[in-house]
Parts: sequence; C-alpha cells; structure tokens
Amino acid sequence: MAAWTIPGYTEIEEIGSGGFGEVVLARHDATGMPVAIKYLRANLCSDPMFIQMFRDEATALASIEDPNVVRLYEYVESAVGAGIVMELVDGVSLREILVHQGATTVEAALVVLEGSLLGLAAAHQRGVVHRDYKPENVLVDGEGTSKLTDFGIAARTGERPLPAGTLRYAAPEQLAGAPASPAGDVYAATATFYECVTGRPPFSGTREELLRQHNSEPVPLELLPEPLRPLIATGMAKELRSRPADAASLVADLQSIASRAYGQSWRRRGRSHLSEAALLLAALWPMGAAAAQQGTAMGFIQLRQLEDQPGFRQRWASRPLRAAIAVAGIAVIAAITTLAVPAPRAETADAMPSTADLTAFVPPTPKIQVTVSTPPHTEKAKEFSVVYGGGSDGTAQIGGEVINAVNGEVVTLYAQHFPFAAPPTPAASVDLSPVGTIARYTFRVTPIVLTRYSVKVFRSRIATTPLVSSPISVIYVIPNYSGSFVPTCAGTQCQAAWSVTISVPPSALKTEMSSTVYTYFALNYEGFSPSSPSRVLSLGAGNPVIGAPRQISADKYTLTIKFSYPNDPNSISVLASVCKKPLYLKDGIGSPGGSDCGSRTMSYG
Ligand code: ADP
Ligand code: MG
Repeated sequence: MAAWTIPGYTEIEEIGSGGFGEVVLARHDATGMPVAIKYLRANLCSDPMFIQMFRDEATALASIEDPNVVRLYEYVESAVGAGIVMELVDGVSLREILVHQGATTVEAALVVLEGSLLGLAAAHQRGVVHRDYKPENVLVDGEGTSKLTDFGIAARTGERPLPAGTLRYAAPEQLAGAPASPAGDVYAATATFYECVTGRPPFSGTREELLRQHNSEPVPLELLPEPLRPLIATGMAKELRSRPADAASLVADLQSIASRAYGQSWRRRGRSHLSEAALLLAALWPMGAAAAQQGTAMGFIQLRQLEDQPGFRQRWASRPLRAAIAVAGIAVIAAITTLAVPAPRAETADAMPSTADLTAFVPPTPKIQVTVSTPPHTEKAKEFSVVYGGGSDGTAQIGGEVINAVNGEVVTLYAQHFPFAAPPTPAASVDLSPVGTIARYTFRVTPIVLTRYSVKVFRSRIATTPLVSSPISVIYVIPNYSGSFVPTCAGTQCQAAWSVTISVPPSALKTEMSSTVYTYFALNYEGFSPSSPSRVLSLGAGNPVIGAPRQISADKYTLTIKFSYPNDPNSISVLASVCKKPLYLKDGIGSPGGSDCGSRTMSYG
C-alpha cells in the first residue's frame, strides 16, 4: 500500500502491481466514482529519474484521449509521492485470463485484443510508442472488450529512450536501444496474440536465451493454425521494416484474415467463446467484489450507467485539475501532503514474470570524464585558450568518455557565453553507442570571447534530469595581434610607431574596442653579448601614446602605439610586448596568466 495517498480519494483495495507501481481501487469522495490509482513505488519516489518517468507516463496518457486507452483523470505529485488517477477497467488483465483459461480460440483472441490494439493505434497516431504491450497491460472487461494501460516506459516515435521493455515480448531493436518505433509495438502485440492462441509465448528461457531467440531464431510457427502463420511471421519479423508499420495496419491485417479464414461473424463467435471466460472473469472480478464488500454497487453495468448520465463527463471535465491536465499535460501539487498512516496490506500473489524482466534493463549510473584539447596553446587547470584566427574562429575539441554507458544515453554539451547573463544552453548532443560499457564522445566547439562548457549525460533524449554532470571548462579566445613598425634612432633616443591590427570575433569587436586595452607595455632588450644581459624596461608616464582604435573590418581593428625608448648600443634587438593583463575577467577577452600578449621585435643594425 502506498504510504502517501492522494487526498480526496478513499482507498478500497490493491488490484495490481508491476515494476514501477502499485495500483489500487479507490473511490472519489466527492462523486463516489470508482477509479484506479497507480502509485509510484515508495522506494522509487526519491529517484528523480523514476519521478520523471512517472510524469512522462501521465503525460503520455493525457495525450491519448481514446476509448480504447484507459483515461487519465488526474496526475498528482507531492514531495513524498506521486499517483496517476485513471479510469477503472472493471475486469481483469489478459494475463489473468491466460493463467486461468490457457489458450483461447483465434476468434476469442481477436475479440479480446481488438480494443487494446485500437488503443495502441491511437497512441501511434499521436506519435507515442507504448514499448510494453503484453498480457499484463491489456485490461479486459466483463464483455470481453479490452483497453490498453501502462504507458510507464512509453516514448515519442523516433526518440532513443532508455532501453527498457519486457524480455519475452520486446522487439530485438528495442532491446538494443534503437529509436522508438510503432513497429516495435507491432512485434510485441503479435507475440501477445501468439500467446493467446497457443497458450505460450513465442520465446522463453533465461535472459540470454531470450535475447538470442529475439535476435536470430525464427518464431516457432508450427503451433499456429495455418491461416495465421504469414501474419505472425511478418508481425514478428526481425527486421522492423518487414513488419506492418503500426498497430492500425496490424489490426486491419488481423481483421481481414479473421473474415477470410473464420467468416464474417468471427466477432460474434469470439464473444460466445468468451462467455465461458466471462464467468471466470466474474469470479475473478476483484474490483466488483471489493466494492460489494464496501457496500457500494459499482459493477461494470453501474459504471456504464453512471457514465451515460448527462453531465457526468462534464463534471469530470470541469474539475480544475482535469482542465489543467488538458492544457498543460500535468498538474503538480507542490505542497507536502500529510503522510497517511500506512495500513497493513496482505501481499498479493504475483505469478507473472514481470518486474525482474523490466528491472534487468535499468543500467547503473554513468560516470563522465572530460578532456579539452585546443591548438598548441595554454592549459591551466580547467581553463583553456584558443587564438582567434582573424576570419576563422579558433576551435577546440571537447571530448571524453562515459563509463557505465548504455546504448541510447545522450551526452549534451552546454555552453554559456560571456558575460554569462543567460543560463547555460544545450549546444550539441550525441547519442552514446558504447563499446562494452565505455562510450567516447567528441564535440568541436567554437568559443565566442570566453565560453564556459560542461557536459551532462541523460538517460534519453526526453529525459530532463541529468544522470551526471561534468565540471565546467572555460575556453578563452585570445585576440590575434599583427602589425609592424620601423624604429628611427638618433643618438641615444629611438622613436617607434607600431600599428597593431587586432582580430577578435565580430561579436566581441565593440567591447574590445571600447575597453581599456593596454595595461602593460614593456621593452625587452635582448643582450648583445653575455656581458650585456637581457633586461626589461618599463616606459614612463605618457609613453607610449596609444591612438584611438579604428575598426577596419567586421572582426579587425587597428590602432597605433607610438613610443620612445633609450637606444642601447649593447642590444641587438628590442622586443615590444603589449599585454592585456588579468583584465580578461572584466571584459571577457584575453587569457588566464597574462599570455595574451602581442609582441614585435625591433632589430638593430
Ligand atoms: P506497472 O507499470 O507497474 O506494470 P500497470 O499500469 O501495468 O503497472 O498496472 C499493474 C496492474 O494493475 C495491471 O497489470 C492491472 O492488473 C492493474 N491495473 C492497472 N491499471 C488499471 C486500471 N485502470 N483498471 C484496473 N486495473 C488496472
Ligand atoms: Mg504493467
């Protein structure tokens, strides 16, 4: 039983459980309406990944309003729990029918599956892939009509979600982490149909055996009635392109085979075959029985009548949360709801192979390593620099490896540009394809001025909470200096006019031109002989004189530095350096450690 319960509902009984949730029958206090509430397992509530998956499940349900898919009433989340309130299907899962009855006739199997397959088709039509179609997730009511439930690991078509699924039914490409595709659901639905008709799933065994069979063994067709064989063979083709493209095509194929091989009245016969099963359903009917004990008449028929009352839907639809769901997909209650005292609950026997199969696919948390390589420039701690090439931006490479990587995980590069007014934004993403458990990734980046980079690993393209984040690496862009000067010396004094051309990325040009540029100017006299060692001479006030900067192209500006200096007969050359000392922190241009210098050598003689 869930420790936390959604306010406004009275819990009656647990009616099912699976890998992620416990499903309870409850009554909506205000209207008396019976509902099913799926609570995220208490031990998963503190894991942001599972919370996100649970939200995604509610979002998927909210996006599919279809009579063949259980309807979402509300999604409620508090700091201590999360629950999906949904339409109660007053019946049993197809698994329970198969456990108690064994194989069904082809017509009965078609009748029982048709509804849930139409529900699957509705999901596909809205770009949702269910990824866990199996007898446990097909709910059958007292008339043999089925609905699809459990969008716990659903994904948008084309996304690369966490490779999850149930080993007995999942398509080979889904287990390998390929992008989600309706054809994957077609495989699982065909396997479920196979099981209805033969009483056993097409493949069984250990995890390794199942993977091998899905990947390379033909489906054993000999147990099937002849007319079904081609359909099962294509529905479970190894290559997804050979299968019917989606559930709508599969249903159409099934219906036309049924009419051809079993006559136009296959539905009526299927229902009559099911009428024996209906007795069984009545006996199994956990919700009806529980409701009766509570003194509430809530059998299937009553529920129908209630729904037929004018205004009933209206009443649900006009509830604020329901409206919020319709608009935003999700309503989140942020306030902490008082913890209900957990009531003791008898463990429900679970004969189905469900949770183990699923959890086998939840991979360990990855670890990330980042290396940055730039052209032969400085590297200091987590700070790097590239030279702006004048027209061609300096680029750097950010790469590394993810340890414990799983196919389908995504590494996203985040960039935050100077002056860091906006938060980091995703700049690029790569899907990981690990060799063993290690995956390598590389991004080529073009930093602008000064850019902070970090990388994060996500479980999938839709996941919003990263599994792991790297520290920040800062890459500086160093302006490129060029220019020339000719000194003129007379007696003990020399004069020089150095026109410097400075290239910076166009985006930085204005800032750079208006900033206090030169903070350090020195002459380095190169000694003529060992007796005249090298020395550095700082010039005095007013020397040099720096001219006004003038823009000469989109990414270049020029200025003239005039200075005078003592003529030293013992020197062979003078190296003039112009540096933008640690000001880089203020204006964003430059590099750490004062390496951002332009220099020119004046030769004597
Ligand atoms: P999990 O993600 O844990 O597998 P499910 O959504 O499949 O959870 O629910 C587990 C079981 O609860 C189902 O197999 C079914 O027996 C029962 N169940 C789920 N949803 C409903 C519902 N709307 N009405 C009645 N029973 C339900
Ligand atoms: Mg389930």
